[in-house]
Amino acid sequence: MKTAEPKKTQAQPPVELPERRNFIREIINDDLRTNKYGGRVHTRFPPEPNGYLHIGHAKSICLNFGLARDYHGLCNVRFDDTNPTKEESEYVESIQEDVRWLGFDWGDRLYYASDYFEKLHAFALALIEKGKAFVCDLNADQIREYRGTLTEPGRDSPYRDRTVEENFDLFNRMRKGEFPDGSRTLRAKIDMASPNLNMRDPVMYRILHATHHRTGDTWCIYPTYDWAHGQSDSLEQITHSICTLEFADHRPLYDWFLKELGIYRPQQIEFARLNMTYTVMSKRRLLELVEGGHVGGWDDPRMPTISGLRRRGYTPESIRTFADRIGVSRSESTVDVAVLEDCLRDDLNKRAPRVMAVLRPLKVVIENYPDGKVEELSAVNNPEDETMGKRTVPFSRVLYIEHDDFREDPPKKYFRLSPGAEVRLRYAYIIKCVGVVKDQQSGGVVELRCTYDPQTKSGSAENIRKVKGTIHWVSAAHATDAEVRLYDRLFNVSEPGGENWKDSINPSSLQILKGCKVEPGLASSKPQERFQFERLGYFCVDNDSSGEHIVFNRTVTLRDTWAKIEKS
Ligand code: ATP
Ligand code: MG
Repeated sequence: MKTAEPKKTQAQPPVELPERRNFIREIINDDLRTNKYGGRVHTRFPPEPNGYLHIGHAKSICLNFGLARDYHGLCNVRFDDTNPTKEESEYVESIQEDVRWLGFDWGDRLYYASDYFEKLHAFALALIEKGKAFVCDLNADQIREYRGTLTEPGRDSPYRDRTVEENFDLFNRMRKGEFPDGSRTLRAKIDMASPNLNMRDPVMYRILHATHHRTGDTWCIYPTYDWAHGQSDSLEQITHSICTLEFADHRPLYDWFLKELGIYRPQQIEFARLNMTYTVMSKRRLLELVEGGHVGGWDDPRMPTISGLRRRGYTPESIRTFADRIGVSRSESTVDVAVLEDCLRDDLNKRAPRVMAVLRPLKVVIENYPDGKVEELSAVNNPEDETMGKRTVPFSRVLYIEHDDFREDPPKKYFRLSPGAEVRLRYAYIIKCVGVVKDQQSGGVVELRCTYDPQTKSGSAENIRKVKGTIHWVSAAHATDAEVRLYDRLFNVSEPGGENWKDSINPSSLQILKGCKVEPGLASSKPQERFQFERLGYFCVDNDSSGEHIVFNRTVTLRDTWAKIEKS
């Protein structure tokens, strides 16, 4: 017997990576089984263009676009631009750039809630007609007062029983601009005694004589989030409208509007927002950091914004891995920022070429190495990936090493350089410290006199001797000058919060090192290029670099080496 081909639908079973299994996918799997949305999966990412996106938004982007990708569905971007006073085109631009940079594509489905103002207005008229919405003359304070509390029911507005005709007339005149800001609202007529405050005749429209970034002065009434959001989802035929937990109490209202209007009903699903240690995540606070001059701007490499992370040297892959790794759940928690950093290291370890850079240079003269001689030594670009090949680095009589790789009085188990001790120079020779030159006034070490053992060239046949320590270096005559910016956490406490959150800003979160010396090949590096500076961490070229002036950001330290160097 021939069985019928299964009916072709848009959605298909998802890629079942174990870390991707979660309660939202279970809901979607059920909906696919029961054919609730005709086999479709259609999500959306709805940012309000009132700031730059941050790593919390990245979680939401990866979730919404990830579902669409894995189920062969679609994901829209919709600007939730219902609040004309706080929104700017600059944010609209940056949000698109950030979503694209993260690796997602909305195709031709870039929408604005403001595109629906006319339709939302028509929906409002429909509710007025049904006797389910009314024009209220209470002001904001009075509305709050009438609303009651969690323990006390609210009171009906004295304007609640206006006739349909009167509501039509007043709402029309609200739109025409006959009334001042805040003097009237349009409210849904639901239940002032509902235990859910959101259901106590919520406001749908407020009067605001403000110029909107897209609709200009066409409107002087603007829809609230609650009124705009669900209806916009419906107009776009969204199947699963995913938002953060604080909207769970709004879901009955979301459903009520759609049901009363009798239009297509998406399903709202809530998940726990991302909180991260040593990080503030709300756009309002991030704006305060920018406006207060605590950071250099929205894209300051210390900011948890996507543009800040990008400038810091984060890869989109590492952020997507992070989103997968932390998963989604229904309970609030705080993720250790170290998880994000680890995702970055895993990624950069595979792709960032190794180079040598000296951040705090100490001059070394190799006394028995001929003046003027230069050897091009072979260095491996990435031991994790042979295909990245090799390069040469010049070696000569005068070098720089890291100041911290020399101690006059070395502690036990210090395997780097000290008077009389030997150390291997990476890719080069074993050298021995035979003299120390000091500044006459300060007594500080300014130069080391060394000798090298010609029989110890790395990779050569006669190189049989071993020493415990290996350090990095650059040739003084060939090195390129650079500025290096070292970043530390922006906050001193793991959970900056409360009224005085700004008191815990770390005053030394940025350390600028000038006069660093990097290997000559880096002279031609371009902004955003990423490297591992051997033994020091991952670095990327900052956008401030230009021509001769190269600036590196420390993206992240190595897993443990830095700590070891600092302590020993
Ligand atoms: P903030 O509280 O930072 O101002 P928001 O929620 O007001 O953020 P929106 O632009 O409205 O910012 O958010 C767009 C989408 O991103 C929403 O679906 C929202 O739920 C989601 N989102 C915002 N912050 C987070 C977060 N920390 N974790 C996960 N998702 C988030
Ligand atoms: Mg918001």
